[in-house]
Amino acid sequence: MHWETVIGLEIHAQLATRSKIFSGASTAFGAEPNTQACGVDLGLPGVLPVLNREAVVMAIRFAAAIGAQLQRRSIFARKNYFYPDLPKGYQISQFELPIVGNGSVEIMLADGEQRQIGVTRAHLEEDAGKSLHEDFHGLTGIDLNRAGTPLLEIVSEPDMRSASEAVAYARKIHQIVRYIGICDGNMQEGSFRVDANVSVRPQGEGLGTRAELKNINSFRFLERAINFEAERQIDLLESGGKVVQETRLYDPDRDETRSMRSKEEANDYRYFPDPDLLPVELDDAFVAAALAAMPELPDPRRARFSEEYALTQSEALQLTASRELADYYEALVREAGDARLAVNWVTGELAAALNRSGIEVTQSPISAERLGGLLRRISDSTISGKIAKQVFESMWGGSDSAEEIIESQGLRQITDADAIEGIVAHVVEANLQQVEAYRQADQNRRAKMLGFFVGQVMKLSKGKANPQQVNELLRKKLTQ
Ligand code: ADP
Ligand code: MG
Repeated sequence: MHWETVIGLEIHAQLATRSKIFSGASTAFGAEPNTQACGVDLGLPGVLPVLNREAVVMAIRFAAAIGAQLQRRSIFARKNYFYPDLPKGYQISQFELPIVGNGSVEIMLADGEQRQIGVTRAHLEEDAGKSLHEDFHGLTGIDLNRAGTPLLEIVSEPDMRSASEAVAYARKIHQIVRYIGICDGNMQEGSFRVDANVSVRPQGEGLGTRAELKNINSFRFLERAINFEAERQIDLLESGGKVVQETRLYDPDRDETRSMRSKEEANDYRYFPDPDLLPVELDDAFVAAALAAMPELPDPRRARFSEEYALTQSEALQLTASRELADYYEALVREAGDARLAVNWVTGELAAALNRSGIEVTQSPISAERLGGLLRRISDSTISGKIAKQVFESMWGGSDSAEEIIESQGLRQITDADAIEGIVAHVVEANLQQVEAYRQADQNRRAKMLGFFVGQVMKLSKGKANPQQVNELLRKKLTQ
């Protein structure tokens, strides 16, 4: 039987507001436990939540970014359940009327094929605190700093058909929320968490029963968890069993999913509108202000890059992966005046150096302005591309400009014909046997043998002789 995997994702993106969604407490990550939760976050008697307008602005930006219906009227509801990290006894979320309605994003698959993935809705809600099960010797620690942190929960349609499609979709949402500046996307810190709903079915039939894999915090684990779960369900069905609807946890150490709770044990959340919060009514002026500073989005930016800078699909894709990298590239093009040279350096030397140091482009010790200075010296033939790599290394480790390094290390390219001729003559003298062989050889062999002489000249000139001139002079000299 041919089985088809069906996946829908629920993504929790932590919104990058300074304060919580209903209180003025800080959302900064990494503070001492229980120093950043105030009375509102704890739900103490007599306090009232006040909606953070910035969180609403961010939801509006997201709606626009995925071409979704923005709901002009949305309602906060209480989702009731008991858990130690939720002292209020309920989570404030949106249920029947979420702020963001239907939208979609486009994903690109490995073979370059594009697919549209539906987004059912996205709603605002508060995060709960964190239960700490390690380090407490049989006890559970509770850190409430995260309680009340604003989240946008983004719910997809069950539109994905493989783990890699699900990863492509999750990456796309990750890219978008980072581009529009509403989420820092830091998965280790839990700012971007994914729940994967997975089911399988014989191709062409109705949806199968799904399992929900909770709180996956890396793209790699997402792929593995889905693959494991689909296999598990297929094995189960093929051996005559039945999939039960349940919540499962992925264990990366053992690369398997385990049951957490079944549907029978599932909570009845008894949702009802929160009487402490008014419905959110958005007027035109508020929406317009929220969208005033929308940046160019990844897809249009990728298309513009291809066109404007004559890049290949994959170059444009790579350079627009993050807004920061795209900004760096464009700044470099402005500085260097050569889009082709710029893409070669950003995807070549710079990418390799960033990778080696394990840092992001925003932390690059060489700014676009400084790198631009180096590329200008390549364009005007002050140095060769090869020497430029040497200059780049020096720039990486210090703060000197390309200009200063070229001068202080005497790296200027030798373009003086007399000087190059001198070196060429020297090489010819020193290798008479090879010269003789060259003269006897046919065109084909000569082309191959020339490399040896070029290498000798470059070595003697410490890489500084202009390679084009060296080639021309050698050809002339060797056949004289
Ligand atoms: P719940 O209210 O239990 O969270 P929803 O209907 O809101 O359920 O769906 C949650 C997520 O599960 C959505 O992303 C949806 O696309 C996905 N989903 C629903 N049914 C299936 C299924 N049979 N297989 C895979 N994913 C599914
Ligand atoms: Mg759900």
